[in-house]
Amino acid sequence: MKPTWAVVALLACAGPPAAPAPEVVAVAATPDVDIASCPSELAPAEWPSRAVSVRVVLGPGVTVEQATERLAIARTLWRREGVSLQIDPRFGHTRSTAAFVAAGSDPFEWTAPIRGLVWEHATPARGGVVVVLMPTVLDPASPIARSLDALDGYTWMPGDDGAVAHAVNAPIDADPVVFAGVDAARRIPASHPDTTLAHELGHAFGLSHSGRVGGLMTPGSQACLPTLDAAERAIVLAGTP
Ligand SMILES: [Zn+2]
Repeated sequence: MKPTWAVVALLACAGPPAAPAPEVVAVAATPDVDIASCPSELAPAEWPSRAVSVRVVLGPGVTVEQATERLAIARTLWRREGVSLQIDPRFGHTRSTAAFVAAGSDPFEWTAPIRGLVWEHATPARGGVVVVLMPTVLDPASPIARSLDALDGYTWMPGDDGAVAHAVNAPIDADPVVFAGVDAARRIPASHPDTTLAHELGHAFGLSHSGRVGGLMTPGSQACLPTLDAAERAIVLAGTP
């Protein structure tokens, strides 16, 4: 399950709203990708499949439209791999007023802002993944930015014994928390889909980085929707959450 955090190279709490009635918000399913030049294979019907609950929290300033776009790409991509992302019906109503912006110069320092977020959204474990969409997850002026080309996504995993978990001090029975910045697209060619969220979900499902061309877990942007290999798919379909 390592690594537990992710640098995507090219790639809150909240004042809960005044108890709005949950409603299902339709999430579009078509990413803006020129599929004419891309492999178009879909997950064969005989592949095993599983459903994963995804609870979405919108950070300050993040619109439902921005979130819908990112979720659409992630859902399309994961559906191809046999995973159905079930968006919690509170989508659009769960907001965070706290921003997660990585700053500082070391992991203990720059992950400090996520402590409250993890505690708020990942406890107790309910099965599934928490997705927190933020305007950005990296302060360009911070010391950490000088050592990273980009940090567009970050996945916190329960039970991690590294510096991040130490900083977070979260319980081991929490659900993974995925952070993704919605401004990532500005560093990604317009013709490429922003697959940051889908990539981070791969970490939440237990995958590590890959170097395979066209692989979802390969850092960097992709011209087409990236895929999993057979071994990765087996991990995802067998794993938790
Ligand atoms: Zn990664």
